[in-house]
Amino acid sequence: MSTTSLKNFEVWFVTGSQHLYGPKTLEQVKLNSTAIAGAFDASDKIPVRIVFKPVVKTPAEITEMCKDANNSPECIGLICWMHTFSPAKMWIAGLLSLQKPFVHLHTQFNRDLPWGEIDMDFMNLNQAAHGDREFGFIGSRLRIQRKVVVGHWEEANVQEKIGLWTRAAAGWNELRHLKVARWGDNMREVAVTEGDKVEAQIKLGVSVNGYGVGDLVKFVNEVSEGAIDGLVTEIESKYEVTDSLKKGGNKHESLRESARIELGMRAFLEKGGFKAFTTTFEDLQGLVQLPGFAVQRLMADGYGFGGEGDWKTAAMVRTMKVMAAGLTGGTSFMEDYTYHLHPSGAKVLGAHMLEVCESIAQEKPRVEIHQLGIGGKADPVRSKFTVKPGQALNASLIDMGNRFRLIVNEVEVVPLDAPMPKLPVASALWIPKPNLEIGAGAWILAGGAHHTSFTQAIPAEVLEDFAEMAGIEYLIINDSTKISEFKKELRWNDLYYHLSKGI
Ligand code: MN
Repeated sequence: MSTTSLKNFEVWFVTGSQHLYGPKTLEQVKLNSTAIAGAFDASDKIPVRIVFKPVVKTPAEITEMCKDANNSPECIGLICWMHTFSPAKMWIAGLLSLQKPFVHLHTQFNRDLPWGEIDMDFMNLNQAAHGDREFGFIGSRLRIQRKVVVGHWEEANVQEKIGLWTRAAAGWNELRHLKVARWGDNMREVAVTEGDKVEAQIKLGVSVNGYGVGDLVKFVNEVSEGAIDGLVTEIESKYEVTDSLKKGGNKHESLRESARIELGMRAFLEKGGFKAFTTTFEDLQGLVQLPGFAVQRLMADGYGFGGEGDWKTAAMVRTMKVMAAGLTGGTSFMEDYTYHLHPSGAKVLGAHMLEVCESIAQEKPRVEIHQLGIGGKADPVRSKFTVKPGQALNASLIDMGNRFRLIVNEVEVVPLDAPMPKLPVASALWIPKPNLEIGAGAWILAGGAHHTSFTQAIPAEVLEDFAEMAGIEYLIINDSTKISEFKKELRWNDLYYHLSKGI
């Protein structure tokens, strides 16, 4: 389940050239490329391993390299750079067969013009300024979506952008292989959490399957009392547990029941190789309480989750947790729950009935038990906490019928105006960018869900890179958003995605 490191993934550093320049120049190209790949591999801004690949000089070498990339489970993408000119018809067969994403690095080994020394040898060796344009043409001519990163390879900004792209590639790789388990179906009559699971598997790779709650109950009933003892002891040492739930407290059985459900869920997910799941409070036959605390703890361990059968959000939470590996700040299932519409500045209180991930907690979570007026079950255990102020974003993946659309809103998490002692769940308070009026207005025009994947770990750029790899529509709502322009973008995108099948 590890979401702490991406060092088991490789991105291949691929340099294009041709034989025209002769062996001496090609040897220098190789040395320079090796140095850049080595610097990227050592960079703390780039979370994956960067692997130097032999300079490709012919159509056959390029095609062979692309096939190798397709067949390598560790390789999640390529960095392509044309140190010299690499005639791009040589790249057609390779790029057409390539199933991994690539980022086009537009750099030059020498940062500066050697003013006093420059001669034709320098000019022939340092040709990215035109070689990368030739490569760019074939990418555009083939209609391949890709990121272009421009600047000297030693610049922090360049390495940062490459690093963000590799995070997107790791997320894309995760989604391609992800299995989501759904206990129960959607909340009845809800629209936005529905979608075409076959289309999702064709386009995104993710496999989504439903299971009866009875299948889960069987695992829950098989949990031993000894295992529950162990988990309850761990919980009591790790959290601030309310007195009634502690050993000897009159609600202690509820904590044991929560632990039993968690262990049952964990066993089910591990056995099936699932890294994301959904529950539905309407379908809980055989479970004593709605899984709240259990879900919170599983999410904190790296599982994706979506409430009420929301498999798209569950998949995005898991994907974004992988993208965020090793960064500060957590990622959680979230819901825009209720508003503060004060004239001094409107705010959103985000929460859920129970299931907010502990990875976004700013203080030690408190484990409590309260009545839940929905679902008709025994009172569920949950952990409660608040979220640290700062930059964050909400992402929502929806099914538009003919395409998937990813909507991202940058938000600013803010401190509470006053404590909320009676609120029985974990929550975050934020101001959407540019403000609630435009942020929520644009979100609703775009059809964004009430459910989101919320993160404080990754910037929107990662999700933009990801959407390009996945070939899905991307809409960003941030400080630059204007409603009239946003409406035009929606209309143009409708046309684009209708026509693009023939482009
Ligand atoms: Mn919900």
